[in-house]
Amino acid sequence: MNDVRGANRPDMSAFWMPFTANRRFKADPRLLVAAKGMYYRTDDGREVMDGCAGLWCVNAGHGRPEIAEAVGRQLEAMDYAPSFQLGHPLAFDFAAELAKIAPAGLDRIFFAGSGSEAVDTALKIALAYHKARGEGGRTRLIGRERGYHGVGFGGISVGGLVNNRRAFTLLPGVDHMRHTLDLDRNAFSRGLPEHGAELADDLERIVALHGADTIAACIVEPVAGSAGVLPPPKGYLERLRATCDKHGILLIFDEVITGFGRTGEAFATQVFGVTPDLMSTAKGLTNAAFPMGAVFAGRHVHDAIVQGPEHLIELFHGYTYSGHPAACAAGLAALDIYKREGLFTRAAEVSGVWEDALHGLKGARHVIDLRNFGLMAAVDLEPRPGAAGMRGYEAMLKGLELGLLMRFTGDTLAFSPPLIISEAEIGFLFDTVRKVVESLD
Ligand code: PLP
Repeated sequence: MNDVRGANRPDMSAFWMPFTANRRFKADPRLLVAAKGMYYRTDDGREVMDGCAGLWCVNAGHGRPEIAEAVGRQLEAMDYAPSFQLGHPLAFDFAAELAKIAPAGLDRIFFAGSGSEAVDTALKIALAYHKARGEGGRTRLIGRERGYHGVGFGGISVGGLVNNRRAFTLLPGVDHMRHTLDLDRNAFSRGLPEHGAELADDLERIVALHGADTIAACIVEPVAGSAGVLPPPKGYLERLRATCDKHGILLIFDEVITGFGRTGEAFATQVFGVTPDLMSTAKGLTNAAFPMGAVFAGRHVHDAIVQGPEHLIELFHGYTYSGHPAACAAGLAALDIYKREGLFTRAAEVSGVWEDALHGLKGARHVIDLRNFGLMAAVDLEPRPGAAGMRGYEAMLKGLELGLLMRFTGDTLAFSPPLIISEAEIGFLFDTVRKVVESLD
């Protein structure tokens, strides 16, 4: 580790950084060199609380030796094995363990290498399902404004964040429901907002426009994450489920962020009591120690596709790293930790303290909305006139200076700490946010 900030820094020109203002970053880099539990260490030797579990993914906290050992053992025993027409035991074991914690009926697991791959896999499974059932005309995919579903062509097409879409060609036939953010009616809601269940009826509008027999699937995040923590209005998801059922449309929940304990149960699906037909996951799946994604498919979806002559491949889809042995080892070890330490329900246990601490910021300088659900929270800052996004960026920098890592998207600050966060650490987190926002111009 470098003790002096800037000393022995690597040449930074070759790494084209993702979702980063490369030139600004490289002119004033921020480097993390170690991590344990709730904390990162920076290259100048400071401890920084991880207020966002890396990128909403290190749910059991950093540096879990059980995971490192399991991955190391697996890499020594067998570093890689294909899953095309061959197998290795760990992939079956991991899928079986995931099936045990899966929401009712979603117990057929397809492995991918990331959240984006999991999303595109789920979308493709939805299309294949209708085709297999003789409804190949159902090709439209419906997303929602402000949705984030990764960066594959499928994910950006159903996604609803303009900057992720505008430079790229998109899938044809995709449409979007309206988003649910409504500051006029719902600002400073604690948990689920009261108003907006009727926005789920946007799917009816789209059905009326295109015809149900052209629509394959509707995908939403149960709680939108990357757009700035948008919990669904009360009753919204139930209404969406009912509309999908009415019209034979598959419902996909993208639980890449909300999965693995973020909202108070293993999956948000279980918290809301609304079960989709397909669920995409990643991130907390391996506690982010190894890249991996997984789609949980309903039995009915799986069985409709896995049929016909037994010697034929049923689904022409998969990745070199689907079911990677070391990823499965990491996932099994992570699952063990989640269960042993009760982490799936930890967010529910501390969400009251979390919510109170967050909403203590009401009235703080620049704060125009606060939103929370489970161990997720967002603080909306009023954009500085003519310089939208600058307050968010400056807040992130100030947070780092004061020992807190936060996510910012535009002028929204987002928080999703490891689920092991203590009540005292929740206090530190929001006390620091207060200092940060009060310090901003
Ligand atoms: N879906 C959701 C809801 C996400 O939040 C993300 C990443 O943040 C993804 C998909 C994409 O995951 P990945 O970055 O692993 O491809």
